[in-house]
Amino acid sequence: MSKFWSPFVKSLVPYVPGEQPKLTKLVKLNTNENPYGPSPKALAAMQTELNDNLRLYPDPNSDLLKQAVARYYGVQGNQVFLGNGSDEVLAHIFHGLLQHDQPLLFPDISYSFYPVYCGLYGIKFDAVPLDEQFQINPADYAKPNGGIIFPNPNAPTGCLLALDAVEQILKASPDSVVVVDEAYIDFGGETAITLVDRYPNLLVTQTLSKSRSLAGLRVGLAVGHPDLIEALERIKNSFNSYPLDRLAIVGAAAAFEDREYFDKTCQLVIESRDKVVGQLQAKGFEVLPSAANFIFARHPQHDAAGLAAKLREQGVIVRHFKQERIAQFLRISIGTPEQNQALIDGLGDL
Ligand SMILES: *Cc1c(COP(=O)(O)O)cnc(C)c1O
Repeated sequence: MSKFWSPFVKSLVPYVPGEQPKLTKLVKLNTNENPYGPSPKALAAMQTELNDNLRLYPDPNSDLLKQAVARYYGVQGNQVFLGNGSDEVLAHIFHGLLQHDQPLLFPDISYSFYPVYCGLYGIKFDAVPLDEQFQINPADYAKPNGGIIFPNPNAPTGCLLALDAVEQILKASPDSVVVVDEAYIDFGGETAITLVDRYPNLLVTQTLSKSRSLAGLRVGLAVGHPDLIEALERIKNSFNSYPLDRLAIVGAAAAFEDREYFDKTCQLVIESRDKVVGQLQAKGFEVLPSAANFIFARHPQHDAAGLAAKLREQGVIVRHFKQERIAQFLRISIGTPEQNQALIDGLGDL
């Protein structure tokens, strides 16, 4: 705190990202990164782009990538918005589309950046409790609101909401923007992008950080009705005209084009996830059904903070949240088979 801070800065409660340790020996299962590297074609495209052209600004519209995304999902270029990570895309969505008289609705257990954006942009919100099984109940969102946002699969639970349930939420609030944050959709869910032509109030966000293994590149996107996209372009062009650099544009476009590598690595993560779930259950853990590249688990006889500390002593880091309702859970990212084994060994006999 300093006398130079504005009252607004003093009022902010920033998001706290998962630890990025400087020690490289650690088995890092705490921030849901992909254990497999990016597509070799994406790396090659970026290497080719590493040249004298870096003296020039990138394409402010990132058209090469927009077209790659549009082709991939069978939509038009004017239905696609791009940003510096989906966190930036989400920030523009909160700023431009979710600030209304009625409160924004999102689950009580959800991505912890949502309340932070509400603080940053002065948005009122109502946290809607997940049901006893930690699932989203669409009926709970059928009430007056100034917008709705939820991750699907949800974070940090990993639970998937079926597409017809997403549609139920869309139908009940035709006058609000409904944002489906699909950061983890490629690990077992069905994207709601197929619904954007039927629901002008639907905005779907995705990221290349998880399923396309490019967290370090910072690329995210939104797909929706051209009118919603235009609002986001207005915000973006009032903030930073060049959110994606030259390397990000070509690397991300090549990643979208390399379907074979994408399918293979997603499948490996899914297989590992199912194996880890079985191993944890054999140790007495209760594991929520996950459609993501992480699992959310609790042990009826062992304190979660204690387990996280014990794992850390053995060089394995997982995420533990202090929020009361989930304080006995651990969120564990799926790693390579070797990393997953280190987790299982690190837990020992419980
Ligand atoms: C990881 C994550 C994001 C952010 O992704 P970036 O593109 O890396 O900014 C957004 N939403 C959820 C639910 C996430 O887990």
